Amino acid sequence: MDISTSNIKRILVTGGAGFLGSYLCKRLVAEGHDVICLDNFFTSQKSNVSDLLMQPNFELIRHDVTHPIWLEVDEVYNLACPAAPCHYQYNPIKTIKTSVAGAINVLGIAKRCRAKVLQASTSEVYGDPEVHPQPESYRGSVNPIGPRACYDEGKRAAETLFMDYHRMNGVNIRIVRIFNTYGPKMHPYDGRVVSTFIRQALAGEDITIFGDGQQTRSFCYRDDLIEGMVRMMEGPDDFIGPVNLGNPDEFTILQLAEMVVEMTGTKSQIVRKPLPPDDPVRRQPDITLARERLSWQPTISLAEGLKKTIEYFRSINIADFRPPTPDYI
Ligand code: NAD
Ligand code: UDP
Repeated sequence: MDISTSNIKRILVTGGAGFLGSYLCKRLVAEGHDVICLDNFFTSQKSNVSDLLMQPNFELIRHDVTHPIWLEVDEVYNLACPAAPCHYQYNPIKTIKTSVAGAINVLGIAKRCRAKVLQASTSEVYGDPEVHPQPESYRGSVNPIGPRACYDEGKRAAETLFMDYHRMNGVNIRIVRIFNTYGPKMHPYDGRVVSTFIRQALAGEDITIFGDGQQTRSFCYRDDLIEGMVRMMEGPDDFIGPVNLGNPDEFTILQLAEMVVEMTGTKSQIVRKPLPPDDPVRRQPDITLARERLSWQPTISLAEGLKKTIEYFRSINIADFRPPTPDYI
């Protein structure tokens, strides 16, 4: 890649071995930047970044973001946090610590180094939304004492910390609110709906729909999401967000299951399981702001993205992966 040395930055990616983080690292390394990937491998594994380990501009650090770390960087992408309900609810106190202490630690680095820092926030800040689709101005409907609160409230508190470091210390921040994103390199046991349905379909196991399957989600393909995230980081300093990043095409979970069945040609049966508490009924991003300020919108349809994701799952040996939390599956 032809890049002038003046454009090369030292970039820290926390959670850099995860599903989104590993793809982001790959892109930043290809652009010539010096990339430091920091991860405790709770929901990921080193093999996700093994193709980068030999690159001179890539460095991997096993570290827990809840503990301070001293690094000199120009930019930080803060992605460290378990993202699937079954894993973030496994140790909820650790989850909220990861969001809150993790935010304080990366904001401390950004303040000291005068670095730019981006927070990977989430559509979960809207909770079980009463406004549909959800614009950034909607303040959300989160149950602060429910089982999802460790994640939702942790991410909300992280947004608060980002805004306060910005207002009080002039830290150069960005906040993106990510809606359900899927694609190759998802952990086969990460418990999220797309990876679970594909893994079940390819193994000929029952496909487990929680509830009646009429709840909706809007699924964004990984590459589209990372493009939006990088545009946000590189965009003008007067646009700090929060900005929604997601694909506005909305599907019921039953529709998703039917698409996976059809596209894999599986003989798996679709079965029902109880709906977990506080499971949001509807979710769809309003991406007007991202369209206007970042000239960004998704380009990959769910059918196209599922095809690539199914191909990836066919290419891996599931036995090479261990479930992140005991007793999962
Ligand atoms: P992921 O679980 O694959 O990646 C998260 C990474 O963070 C993993 O590598 C994990 O080991 C690491 N991690 C967890 N706790 C850590 C800690 N205390 N210290 C260091 N590393 C730690 O999930 P992902 O989908 O890649 O999500 C990345 C970020 O994007 C997360 O912050 C998540 O909340 C956010 N997000 C993702 C989605 C999505 O649909 N993929 C939606 C909304 C928000
Ligand atoms: N879901 C499901 N079966 C599964 C896993 C998830 O029906 O095996 C449903 C879940 O109840 C939710 C939706 O799929 O309504 C999306 O779940 P996921 O955990 O991927 O993300 P969420 O958007 O809920 O954080």
